[in-house]
Amino acid sequence: MTRGHDVVLTGRFEETDVKRYFHLPFAVPAGVRQLHVRYSYNDQIDSDPLIGGGNTLDIGIFDERGIAPSSPGYRGWSGSEKLEFTIDAEWATPPYRAGPIGAGTWHVMLGPYKVGPRGCDYRVEIRFDAGRPREDRIVLRHGPPRRPRLPAAEPGWIRGDLHCHTLYSDGDSWPSEMLVAAADAGLAFLGATDHNSVAHHPEYGGGGGALPIVVPGVEITTYHGHWNAWGTQRWYDFREPTAAGVSTSMRQALADGAFVSVCHPKPFGPPWEYAETRGFPAIEVWNGPWERLNSASLAFWEEHLRRGDRVVALGGSDTHLLRSPHHAKLGQPTTWVRIEGDWTSHEPRLAREAVLAALRRGDAFLSASPAGPQLYLTPDPRGALLRVRSAVGTTLALVSDAGSIHAEAIDSDEYERRFELSRGIRYVRAQILDGTGSILALTNPLWLSG
Ligand SMILES: [Zn+2]
Repeated sequence: MTRGHDVVLTGRFEETDVKRYFHLPFAVPAGVRQLHVRYSYNDQIDSDPLIGGGNTLDIGIFDERGIAPSSPGYRGWSGSEKLEFTIDAEWATPPYRAGPIGAGTWHVMLGPYKVGPRGCDYRVEIRFDAGRPREDRIVLRHGPPRRPRLPAAEPGWIRGDLHCHTLYSDGDSWPSEMLVAAADAGLAFLGATDHNSVAHHPEYGGGGGALPIVVPGVEITTYHGHWNAWGTQRWYDFREPTAAGVSTSMRQALADGAFVSVCHPKPFGPPWEYAETRGFPAIEVWNGPWERLNSASLAFWEEHLRRGDRVVALGGSDTHLLRSPHHAKLGQPTTWVRIEGDWTSHEPRLAREAVLAALRRGDAFLSASPAGPQLYLTPDPRGALLRVRSAVGTTLALVSDAGSIHAEAIDSDEYERRFELSRGIRYVRAQILDGTGSILALTNPLWLSG
């Protein structure tokens, strides 16, 4: 065995290289069972988009099967979260995938997310069979979940959260802990959307029983915006941060049968900068607490609705941390979906499909928490029927393509009312607001014509 580092890759990025990916080849000899990668660079700063003046360098790795789009050789990407990691035939540092270390040309992928005025000099050291022991894991949350008492939902409706992160990207907990926490929050399903990772899927499994149903997903995290794909076990290319590159990846996901949404199109979301991209069936209109600029996402969604694009609104808490206080909490917001058939008898795979089918139909509303408010908007022969629960003391508003068409205070927990709608209205949707104008719940639109 060679002493020191078996491979050292060095180089420099300039400010003109920013937000692009570079693939550095290196040879892996036959018979290797473990690979350890460590990298360093000067003037390192946090990935927070508000911080500048230095360098943030993202890293990922591809094995001998190659770097083509959707290549099975993709072993993972850890952004700038980890300065070293191990990939072993039997185990790997999350978010990397364990498995055979094939002989041939591998590639370290580097992405200079930020390059400061002094440039970014990097050094990547790779060791073969350094004998790193399997990393310990600490699991704090286990045992049977304690589901809270919540106001009952109408028959067929279940609540869930579509967006969260674990140690398989930049979260602080394991998938099993996220599932227990989601059950403790009262959720029936959980979308598992680590950044550019598929290695979390086997660990999550299908869920069910006392735990939420798992809707497997991935947050495709690019340098100019993020999008989620659910109902897929594949990764989708994130390396071409242009409208054309994103459109190609999205089309691939949709062709695979995945359901797709643009994530958090609002300032500091980070925002969605692919104005030319079309064809996504959903928008994450509500990400984390409403006050965190979600009105910008709502405006983005309404632009689409007024154009006649029947894009579905959904929500996600974007929970990253279970071990320390954070503004993002599971179920805040909650996405409610209407399931066809008997949910309780569904096995996990069918239950997952039922959740995805409801999202595709737009049979969904959003609320600030699993406790509500609940907002059921259904078609009626002459307009719409609306039922509201858990919203006493709030304000109800009806919004159409022509603007606000009705507002009233809610003073009963049994609110039910029929609305006749004038001709020419293309859609109507409902929302609940608190005294400060923050949204507490919102429905998808009821499309009335065409
Ligand atoms: Zn995101």
